[in-house]
Amino acid sequence: MAGLIQKILFLEILKGLALTLKKMLFARPVTIQYPEKDRLIPAPGFRGRHALVRDENTGDTICVACLRCVKVCPSLCINVEYEVDKEVGKRKVTKYEIDVLRCVFCGYCEEVCPVNALVLTEFYDYGGTTREDLFFDKEKLLKNWDEFIVTQKRPYLNPFWKPRGVPDKLLPARKRQFTGV
Ligand code: SF4
Ligand code: SF4
Repeated sequence: MAGLIQKILFLEILKGLALTLKKMLFARPVTIQYPEKDRLIPAPGFRGRHALVRDENTGDTICVACLRCVKVCPSLCINVEYEVDKEVGKRKVTKYEIDVLRCVFCGYCEEVCPVNALVLTEFYDYGGTTREDLFFDKEKLLKNWDEFIVTQKRPYLNPFWKPRGVPDKLLPARKRQFTGV
Protein backbone atom coordinates (compact mmCIF):
# COMPACT_ATOMS: atom_id res chain seq x y z
CA MET A 1 0.00 0.00 0.00
CA ALA A 2 2.78 2.40 0.98
CA GLY A 3 4.54 1.59 -2.27
CA LEU A 4 1.39 2.40 -4.25
CA ILE A 5 0.99 5.76 -2.52
CA GLN A 6 4.61 6.55 -3.23
CA LYS A 7 4.07 5.75 -6.91
CA ILE A 8 0.90 7.82 -7.14
CA LEU A 9 2.50 10.86 -5.49
CA PHE A 10 5.81 10.49 -7.39
CA LEU A 11 7.61 10.72 -4.07
CA GLU A 12 10.92 9.46 -5.40
CA ILE A 13 10.84 12.01 -8.21
CA LEU A 14 10.00 14.79 -5.80
CA LYS A 15 12.87 13.72 -3.55
CA GLY A 16 15.23 13.87 -6.50
CA LEU A 17 13.98 17.30 -7.53
CA ALA A 18 14.36 18.56 -3.96
CA LEU A 19 17.94 17.34 -3.89
CA THR A 20 18.68 19.02 -7.22
CA LEU A 21 17.16 22.27 -6.00
CA LYS A 22 19.12 22.11 -2.77
CA LYS A 23 22.40 21.60 -4.65
CA MET A 24 21.60 24.37 -7.10
CA LEU A 25 20.81 26.90 -4.41
CA PHE A 26 23.18 26.07 -1.60
CA ALA A 27 26.08 23.87 -2.74
CA ARG A 28 29.42 25.56 -3.43
CA PRO A 29 30.60 25.12 -7.04
CA VAL A 30 33.27 22.50 -7.55
CA THR A 31 34.37 23.97 -10.87
CA ILE A 32 36.76 26.89 -11.22
CA GLN A 33 36.67 29.87 -13.56
CA TYR A 34 39.72 29.00 -15.62
CA PRO A 35 41.60 30.67 -17.21
CA GLU A 36 40.03 34.01 -16.26
CA LYS A 37 40.37 33.33 -12.54
CA ASP A 38 41.70 30.67 -10.21
CA ARG A 39 44.91 30.06 -12.12
CA LEU A 40 47.28 27.70 -10.44
CA ILE A 41 50.44 29.10 -8.91
CA PRO A 42 53.36 26.88 -9.91
CA ALA A 43 55.74 25.70 -7.24
CA PRO A 44 59.16 27.37 -7.04
CA GLY A 45 61.47 25.96 -9.66
CA PHE A 46 58.62 24.70 -11.83
CA ARG A 47 59.85 23.92 -15.35
CA GLY A 48 57.39 25.08 -17.98
CA ARG A 49 57.48 26.59 -21.44
CA HIS A 50 60.91 27.37 -22.84
CA ALA A 51 62.03 30.90 -23.56
CA LEU A 52 65.16 32.59 -24.80
CA VAL A 53 66.12 35.61 -22.74
CA ARG A 54 65.94 38.72 -24.90
CA ASP A 55 68.81 41.17 -24.63
CA GLU A 56 67.21 44.52 -23.83
CA ASN A 57 69.90 46.38 -25.76
CA THR A 58 70.07 44.38 -28.97
CA GLY A 59 66.58 42.84 -28.92
CA ASP A 60 68.17 39.52 -29.84
CA THR A 61 69.02 36.43 -27.81
CA ILE A 62 71.99 36.49 -25.46
CA CYS A 63 72.86 32.93 -26.48
CA VAL A 64 76.53 32.61 -27.44
CA ALA A 65 76.04 29.39 -29.43
CA CYS A 66 78.29 27.29 -27.23
CA LEU A 67 76.06 24.26 -28.01
CA ARG A 68 76.22 22.94 -24.45
CA CYS A 69 72.43 22.69 -24.28
CA VAL A 70 72.42 20.73 -27.53
CA LYS A 71 74.92 18.24 -26.18
CA VAL A 72 73.34 17.81 -22.75
CA CYS A 73 69.73 17.37 -23.91
CA PRO A 74 68.74 13.74 -23.32
CA SER A 75 65.89 13.99 -25.82
CA LEU A 76 68.07 15.46 -28.58
CA CYS A 77 65.38 18.03 -29.19
CA ILE A 78 67.51 21.18 -29.41
CA ASN A 79 69.06 22.35 -32.64
CA VAL A 80 71.37 25.36 -32.76
CA GLU A 81 73.14 26.76 -35.79
CA TYR A 82 75.49 29.71 -35.89
CA GLU A 83 77.90 31.71 -37.97
CA VAL A 84 81.15 33.24 -36.81
CA ASP A 85 81.39 37.00 -36.82
CA LYS A 86 85.03 37.29 -37.85
CA GLU A 87 85.28 40.98 -36.96
CA VAL A 88 84.58 40.41 -33.29
CA GLY A 89 85.56 36.75 -33.28
CA LYS A 90 82.25 35.60 -31.76
CA ARG A 91 79.55 33.17 -32.73
CA LYS A 92 76.16 34.50 -33.72
CA VAL A 93 73.10 32.27 -33.49
CA THR A 94 71.35 31.88 -36.82
CA LYS A 95 68.92 29.16 -35.81
CA TYR A 96 67.66 28.01 -32.43
CA GLU A 97 64.97 25.33 -32.36
CA ILE A 98 63.37 23.19 -29.69
CA ASP A 99 60.98 20.36 -30.51
CA VAL A 100 58.96 20.67 -27.33
CA LEU A 101 56.93 17.53 -27.97
CA ARG A 102 60.09 15.52 -27.35
CA CYS A 103 61.22 17.50 -24.31
CA VAL A 104 61.08 15.79 -20.90
CA PHE A 105 61.53 19.07 -18.99
CA CYS A 106 64.60 17.85 -17.17
CA GLY A 107 66.01 21.37 -17.07
CA TYR A 108 69.54 20.30 -18.04
CA CYS A 109 69.64 22.81 -20.90
CA GLU A 110 68.81 25.63 -18.52
CA GLU A 111 71.34 24.52 -15.93
CA VAL A 112 74.21 24.01 -18.33
CA CYS A 113 73.92 27.36 -20.10
CA PRO A 114 76.91 29.54 -19.18
CA VAL A 115 75.06 32.80 -19.82
CA ASN A 116 71.56 31.87 -18.63
CA ALA A 117 70.16 32.40 -22.09
CA LEU A 118 67.62 29.60 -21.97
CA VAL A 119 64.85 29.53 -19.40
CA LEU A 120 62.13 27.10 -18.47
CA THR A 121 59.47 29.55 -17.40
CA GLU A 122 56.48 29.08 -15.13
CA PHE A 123 54.11 29.05 -18.08
CA TYR A 124 52.26 25.75 -17.86
CA ASP A 125 49.10 26.19 -19.91
CA TYR A 126 50.07 26.16 -23.50
CA GLY A 127 49.32 23.80 -26.30
CA GLY A 128 48.60 23.57 -29.97
CA THR A 129 46.64 21.75 -32.58
CA THR A 130 49.56 20.95 -34.85
CA ARG A 131 53.06 19.68 -34.37
CA GLU A 132 54.39 23.03 -35.64
CA ASP A 133 52.64 24.84 -32.79
CA LEU A 134 54.97 23.14 -30.37
CA PHE A 135 58.07 23.45 -32.45
CA PHE A 136 59.71 26.58 -31.08
CA ASP A 137 62.11 28.49 -33.29
CA LYS A 138 64.18 31.45 -32.13
CA GLU A 139 61.45 34.02 -32.72
CA LYS A 140 58.88 31.98 -30.83
CA LEU A 141 61.30 31.42 -27.96
CA LEU A 142 62.05 35.15 -27.71
CA LYS A 143 58.31 35.87 -27.84
CA ASN A 144 57.80 33.36 -25.05
CA TRP A 145 60.25 35.39 -22.99
CA ASP A 146 58.38 38.65 -23.71
CA GLU A 147 55.10 37.07 -22.65
CA PHE A 148 56.63 35.56 -19.57
CA ILE A 149 58.09 38.87 -18.40
CA VAL A 150 54.95 40.88 -19.16
CA THR A 151 52.65 38.50 -17.34
CA GLN A 152 54.79 38.18 -14.24
CA LYS A 153 52.72 39.63 -11.43
CA ARG A 154 54.89 38.39 -8.62
CA PRO A 155 58.63 37.89 -8.17
CA TYR A 156 59.99 35.14 -10.31
CA LEU A 157 60.33 32.26 -7.95
CA ASN A 158 63.20 30.25 -9.33
CA PRO A 159 65.79 30.98 -6.66
CA PHE A 160 68.68 29.23 -8.32
CA TRP A 161 69.77 31.62 -11.00
CA LYS A 162 69.49 35.18 -12.18
CA PRO A 163 68.97 35.33 -15.90
CA ARG A 164 70.40 38.41 -17.53
CA GLY A 165 67.72 40.82 -18.58
CA VAL A 166 65.36 39.99 -15.72
CA PRO A 167 64.47 43.22 -13.89
CA ASP A 168 65.55 43.09 -10.25
CA LYS A 169 62.00 43.58 -9.01
CA LEU A 170 61.10 40.19 -10.50
CA LEU A 171 63.72 38.43 -8.45
CA PRO A 172 62.72 36.82 -5.18
CA ALA A 173 63.94 38.62 -2.08
CA ARG A 174 66.05 35.63 -1.06
CA LYS A 175 67.98 35.79 -4.31
CA ARG A 176 68.42 39.55 -4.10
CA GLN A 177 69.81 39.13 -0.63
CA PHE A 178 72.13 36.34 -1.72
CA THR A 179 73.53 38.10 -4.77
CA GLY A 180 73.43 41.61 -3.34
CA VAL A 181 71.63 42.93 -6.43
S1 SF4 B 1 64.43 20.41 -20.59
FE1 SF4 B 1 65.72 18.59 -20.93
S2 SF4 B 1 64.70 17.49 -22.56
FE2 SF4 B 1 63.85 19.54 -22.57
S3 SF4 B 1 65.06 20.69 -24.05
FE3 SF4 B 1 66.01 21.00 -22.06
S4 SF4 B 1 67.58 19.41 -21.87
FE4 SF4 B 1 66.19 18.81 -23.55
S1 SF4 C 1 71.34 28.53 -24.91
FE1 SF4 C 1 73.14 28.62 -23.58
S2 SF4 C 1 73.95 26.53 -23.57
FE2 SF4 C 1 72.58 26.69 -25.37
S3 SF4 C 1 73.93 27.28 -27.07
FE3 SF4 C 1 73.08 29.17 -26.19
S4 SF4 C 1 74.65 29.85 -24.71
FE4 SF4 C 1 75.06 27.70 -25.16
